[in-house]
Amino acid sequence: MTAFPVGGPELPQRRNLVTEIPGPTSRALTQRRAGAVARGVSSSLPVFVTAAGGGVLLDADGNSLIDFGSGIAVTSVGNAAPRVASRVASQAASFTHTCFMVTPYEGYVEVCEELARRTPGSHEKRSALFNSGAEAVENAIKVARHATGRTAVVAFDHAYHGRTNLTMALTAKNMPYKQGFGPFAPEIYRVPMAYPLRWPDGPDACRAEALEVVKDLIHAQVGESNVAAVIIEPIQGEGGFIVPPPGFVAGLAAFCASHGIVFIADEIQTGFCRTGDWFACEHEGVVPDLITTAKGIAGGLPLAAVTGRAGLMDAVHPGGLGGTYGGNPVACAAALGAIETMAAEDLAGRARRIGDIMLPRLRKLAEQFPVIADVRGRGAMIAVELTRPGTLEPDAAATAAVAAACHKAGLVVLACGTFGNVLRFLPPLVIGEDLLEEGLGILEDAFSAL
Ligand SMILES: *Cc1c(COP(=O)(O)O)cnc(C)c1O
Repeated sequence: MTAFPVGGPELPQRRNLVTEIPGPTSRALTQRRAGAVARGVSSSLPVFVTAAGGGVLLDADGNSLIDFGSGIAVTSVGNAAPRVASRVASQAASFTHTCFMVTPYEGYVEVCEELARRTPGSHEKRSALFNSGAEAVENAIKVARHATGRTAVVAFDHAYHGRTNLTMALTAKNMPYKQGFGPFAPEIYRVPMAYPLRWPDGPDACRAEALEVVKDLIHAQVGESNVAAVIIEPIQGEGGFIVPPPGFVAGLAAFCASHGIVFIADEIQTGFCRTGDWFACEHEGVVPDLITTAKGIAGGLPLAAVTGRAGLMDAVHPGGLGGTYGGNPVACAAALGAIETMAAEDLAGRARRIGDIMLPRLRKLAEQFPVIADVRGRGAMIAVELTRPGTLEPDAAATAAVAAACHKAGLVVLACGTFGNVLRFLPPLVIGEDLLEEGLGILEDAFSAL
């Protein structure tokens, strides 16, 4: 084990390639890993990281890469962010675990208070903390079923809610998430997503029809009074950064309210300043009954939460929710450091600024390269969708080629989408604007080289 190089904002904020990507040390580690790590766990870009901070990842060969991924929307406050790192160090030196269900500690309560303060709506709220996004989603469904006495759950095409058994059932895409892993949990019903680019009669029809289509399907095929919860990502993540038309999420929430259905916003990817608001629901003034959070909540430590109306959350009997590690004190300390950073540095404003820089440049790129069928997103959650020019036929090969060219040039980008044809950009919200511009330049070169 070598000494830890210093990360965080101390790390020089520049791209610097000293070997090919991945370099010889990373390639050797990749070989070693194949003998020890299950191949089901794969990596988009097999460079082994030794330090990270700001908008940069440093690898084992000494290369500095620009980060447009944030470890999948997690390190929004930057890697090894000072307030996170110092609170984690103090907490780890003090105590690392007691189990909140055995003997509690203040950090857990403080995180729940912050969640009540920051999430949409001024009503009385309660939270419960967990380890992963999937676990938060599972628990949101448990709460909704318990509180309503109903069983059916409605989820959307292109949805991603996790990889546990219940959340696999909620997740739409088969390969790689579900293939061979069934049988899946019952009582999940899927309805079309308001996906403007791919709505049968186009974006205008999507705006006009999507909500009615969903409501009619729920009525005809499930029955409103059987539905415990409707769960939706206000902007879909893994499914392709799909932004529904204005009014869709709000209309859905109103429909749920009028039928006693729990409206769950899965803000695990969109939450914590990513889209330019603390939570994406705020953009349309939507107040969810329950909201699930994870990813950006704790600057990289594993933490997740369900936050919601006190009446719903407290419907569950004492002991009905929990887990050994849920709300671990070190993860809570990290969350408090991350939330403090977001507030102090106005990272929601930073996210909006990132969107203002990226969207015009990407739209210009789309004019130049007809393989780009759509540019979409909000704040620092931005994507381009690639198709065969002039058609809606997904071009996963071109997407993979552009991603590979970016990786070679030292820019970490991620692909997503049900059809594997979306490139998504999730830079840390603290990234410098020069690095952001440089990354966009690399992307432009990658499209030119297609
Ligand atoms: C990542 C994600 C999850 C699952 O979170 P894990 O921490 O990977 O279990 C659930 N919902 C959404 C919207 C996500 O982006």
